[in-house]
Amino acid sequence: MSRFEGQVAIITGGALGIGGATARKLASEGASVFIADINDEAAAANVERIREAGGTAASSHVDVSVSEDIARMVNEAVDLYGRLDILVQNAFGVIDGVSIIQGTALTVEEDGWDYGIDVLLKALYLGAKHAIPHMRAGGGGNIVNLASVHSFLQEPGMLVYEAGKAGVVGMTRQMATDFGPDGIRVNAIAPGHIVGEGLAKMWEKNPSGHEFFADQYPLRRTGTPDDIANGITFLCSADASFITGHTLAIDGGLTVQLQEMFGARQAEYIRAHPDTIIPGAAADRDSV
Ligand code: NAD
Repeated sequence: MSRFEGQVAIITGGALGIGGATARKLASEGASVFIADINDEAAAANVERIREAGGTAASSHVDVSVSEDIARMVNEAVDLYGRLDILVQNAFGVIDGVSIIQGTALTVEEDGWDYGIDVLLKALYLGAKHAIPHMRAGGGGNIVNLASVHSFLQEPGMLVYEAGKAGVVGMTRQMATDFGPDGIRVNAIAPGHIVGEGLAKMWEKNPSGHEFFADQYPLRRTGTPDDIANGITFLCSADASFITGHTLAIDGGLTVQLQEMFGARQAEYIRAHPDTIIPGAAADRDSV
């Protein structure tokens, strides 16, 4: 199937994880892909993998926290392939081995806030700013922004990430409104816990922890990068031609649960504390 034959796609953070799988999926369906990533080695390996499978791919060293890099990314892709149809704004990561997402309003430092919001939000505005003129010139296009279940559900001590990912949802709706008349659809995906290469290494050391964690999901598993790549390619495809401004949760049902989202944890708690009543917990379900 070649749903994207003749189309050009930029994927930020397209070396590994969700972005890596998305680059492979789009290429396998005919798109020429441009991987923009800070991890040169992993980006080159993904390009090689795509080419070996018969696809068209190239990569460039791009740090989405750097404004000039984003402008150059779009120019390089258009110079190379001659047009731009799809922009997947996915890049996000850690800096100096420390997650920038941790902390409350009391503990997050101003430079951590600035870096986090630059990567999570400003980069997406800049990517759109540089990409949209080329999409307009080509008669339309698709932007998919990576939101998160953290756009809707708060975990303690995650101020920057939660604020940034909530902002992604609002920005997606705004851009859909502004550029719908140009034939440009703008959507977002809100993944649940997705185990890419990095998280797989973490869970390998703690398989029972992974099992316990997966049990919090109605589908009783965590997600794969392919689960998200499938959603992104759907939103970019003609099958989604009347969908814009939408944030699609791909989360195994995590966000449709009420208090039961932590049902398994609560059930364990109840076993240890039999006199406790927690609304919505597994022990209460039978009586509802
Ligand atoms: P990942 O760490 O597996 O891959 C991220 C990729 O982005 C890597 O190739 C990395 O090198 C690149 N990258 C990081 N910082 C960059 C920068 N400043 N400039 C350019 N490239 C950069 O991450 P993932 O788990 O695949 O997550 C991808 C996106 O999905 C992120 O926006 C993340 O917030 C979102 N998301 C992930 C999950 C999850 O559970 N994995 C859940 C919800 C949302």
